[in-house]
Amino acid sequence: MLATALLLATLAIGPASADAQAIDLARYRMVDLTHPFDGETVYWPTGQSGFTLMSLSRGVTDKGYFYAAEAFQAPEHGGTHMDAPLHFSESGQAAEQIPLEHLIAPLAVLDVTLAAGGNADYEVALTDIVTYEARNGPIRRGSIVVACTGWSSRWPDRMAYLGDDTPGEAGNLHFPSFGAEAVRLLVEQRGVVAIGIDTASIDIGKSSDFPVHRLVARANVPGFENLTGLDKVPAKGALMLALPMMIKGGSGGPLRAVALVPR
Ligand SMILES: [Zn+2]
Repeated sequence: MLATALLLATLAIGPASADAQAIDLARYRMVDLTHPFDGETVYWPTGQSGFTLMSLSRGVTDKGYFYAAEAFQAPEHGGTHMDAPLHFSESGQAAEQIPLEHLIAPLAVLDVTLAAGGNADYEVALTDIVTYEARNGPIRRGSIVVACTGWSSRWPDRMAYLGDDTPGEAGNLHFPSFGAEAVRLLVEQRGVVAIGIDTASIDIGKSSDFPVHRLVARANVPGFENLTGLDKVPAKGALMLALPMMIKGGSGGPLRAVALVPR
């Protein structure tokens, strides 16, 4: 009843309240969190292919105007991309089923650059969340939490970025990412709607059983991988827009991710 009364009160205010909620873009700067897709784009080593762009047409037509068009081909999981819950859960949401509220949300950035810089196998731990919240207050329900490891500066050098550049071999990878304990807290206690990382996976490189992937997939929480630009985003206060290609039935897909940062 109270909720209904509040709703009616809000509606009664009319268009003015809608105006009050408009985002004033002049008050934000926009930070691109996306690596461009090209022949250098890093894909998981066991994949059969990478990103390819084929020119269909480029040049001045016989009617005198310029026309360019290409076809592209790529695995879902490479470059800056989303893991849909279906990636690691048979009953998980496919790419087109993920509510937009999981893709556009307040952004919390855990900075683990120092710890990861000295340890390529670093896992974001509970203590990182405790430290974050001591400085910034509790992580709000409905937030997207990303970890900044500093690894995106190594992109697209496969050896530096993945820890191994042997084609077809994923058994010797070393890069930092989330630990399962920290992610369990984020999902179960903080109610985060998505997680993201500036390395190739939301599990550490040397993981072979992918506990973080399985944990978030079960909870219908998508993951964003191979992000960049996180060093230009404050620990709190930004808004993330992470809009992947809407592949029907897809287990993920290429992602354009942006942060709106208050000026
Ligand atoms: Zn993926």
